Amino acid sequence: MTHTPDVPIAHDDEMLALRAQFGSESSAILAVLKSVKEKTGAISTHQIREIARAYAVPEHRVSGIATFYSLLSSGQESEKTFRICDGIACHMRGAEEWISQCENLAQDSETAIVRQSCLGLCDLAPSALYGTRQLGRNSTNATSFADMINGCLEHSGSLPEERSGETRFLLRRPTISQPSADASVQSLSAIFQNQPESLLDMSEQAQLHGRGGAGYPTARKWRQVASQQADQKYIVCNADESEPLSIKDRTLIDVDPYRLIEGMIIAGYTVGANRGVIYIRGEYEPQAIKLEQAITEMQQANCLGENLFGTSFGFEIDVHRGAGAYICGEETALLESLEGKRGEPRPRPPYPGQAGLHHRSTIVNNVETLCTIAALCDYGLEKYQSIRLDSIFGTKLYGLFGDIQQPGLFEAPQGLTLGESVDTYGGGMKSDSEFSFAVVGGAAGTFVSREQWDHTLGFSHEEQVIPVGTGGVLVCDTTHSVPETLQGILRFFERESCGKCTPCRIGTREARLLLDRLISGVGHPADLDRLEQLSSALDLSLCGLGTSVPSPLRSAMKEFRSEFEQLLPP
Ligand code: SF4
Repeated sequence: MTHTPDVPIAHDDEMLALRAQFGSESSAILAVLKSVKEKTGAISTHQIREIARAYAVPEHRVSGIATFYSLLSSGQESEKTFRICDGIACHMRGAEEWISQCENLAQDSETAIVRQSCLGLCDLAPSALYGTRQLGRNSTNATSFADMINGCLEHSGSLPEERSGETRFLLRRPTISQPSADASVQSLSAIFQNQPESLLDMSEQAQLHGRGGAGYPTARKWRQVASQQADQKYIVCNADESEPLSIKDRTLIDVDPYRLIEGMIIAGYTVGANRGVIYIRGEYEPQAIKLEQAITEMQQANCLGENLFGTSFGFEIDVHRGAGAYICGEETALLESLEGKRGEPRPRPPYPGQAGLHHRSTIVNNVETLCTIAALCDYGLEKYQSIRLDSIFGTKLYGLFGDIQQPGLFEAPQGLTLGESVDTYGGGMKSDSEFSFAVVGGAAGTFVSREQWDHTLGFSHEEQVIPVGTGGVLVCDTTHSVPETLQGILRFFERESCGKCTPCRIGTREARLLLDRLISGVGHPADLDRLEQLSSALDLSLCGLGTSVPSPLRSAMKEFRSEFEQLLPP
């Protein structure tokens, strides 16, 4: 147990000021480190020692946090650090070439070029972060670094243009032109006429399931927390969207942050929780600012605070910024991070519903799930159930990228087939381009072939269903190779593994090394068997990061084995 003294023993006035600003609990250490990094560009040994003194924790704990998160540990930082995404969507659209160009152009400046796993900007691919500016490459002809920056596309945060055939339930409210705190007052005041139990029943009848990837039934998760007798429960929104090919949560916050806040208030009212925290990835600073502004407006409109809508229920929300770690999208790693620690997953049980944030009963839902709940409560069960293609109700946000006419985000009923998503919503393949394969469900998704063109993207385990996961789809034509795409995915997981458990730490690295060897033409037939063995080993990993790697690995090897065999020397 750590003891936080009332009188800190740090000698450094700056650290004492930061302790006063961020609070004396050791959970504030991550925020203090981020502040130090932002102000000074790098975190020194002296600063780590002083933070440890200020919070009365061992130095190794502070340095363990400082080295865990990519936004803290990437060396000397300045306003001029240019972070370029080399994730699979950006790689396909020339990220490597852009990195080389930027390294050349930046040679005479103080700008540092840093690779980043995924920036959540696939719609700007290849994308980059410059300070907090979210940018996409626009031109290849710049002759200076300044010209190159000036020529970049800048993320606007505006509503994506509606595609023909879309069904918008989350991206646009049908009854108002502009989301606002006032519109939320209207929606919430009607919802507060309901008893919490009836909201649980409605979620159940809507067959609502989580949209973060696993598809867990929402009502089941909520009932567990509602049944706990506790004086303090939490609603945590997982806005740490870091899965390559996923930009939906960022878009929802961009276009209607009030909807997310409504969803958290409804969750709190339903299960008896009065504190909410939004954990948003550090790369989404413009979106974090939007959320803070919306929270202030909601407080002014009496949607947040004490005794809401004539009840004894009160609710408050804080925004917490991550510091660059894909693993913090895993719910228990996120909770560790919120408590100011390294974002390493916890063994389960206990589940967050039993012992979550600060060991209190906690709901962790992602942005799309909470927005869907708010929209369902606003429009009603009947309307929600009327949106259906198959037996599944409601809409889903899909991100479609790669060799198609219209890459980007769209909203459609659940139960689309792969072919419908490409032809109807993506405008078909690019001209002179022939479909070869797709990766469905993000980097942790499934490689699918032309034979699965008519299979449904969904959450069930039926044979003709491709797991839709986070809704990200990468479509590849015949110029792309399955082994090389898999290599990029494995590199991502190797880099993002937190290293806590052996199957994932060693397995992701060994699998990537085997792929490197095969692709460079010096592989051995036994390497293919070894990749399959590694899939079985990865199944034994502690958390969803390690256990999801076998999905792309197995599906690629199963559907496209001949492509791997062709890499073997004669
Ligand atoms: Fe960490 Fe990977 Fe183990 Fe998860 S599976 S705890 S990310 S090492």
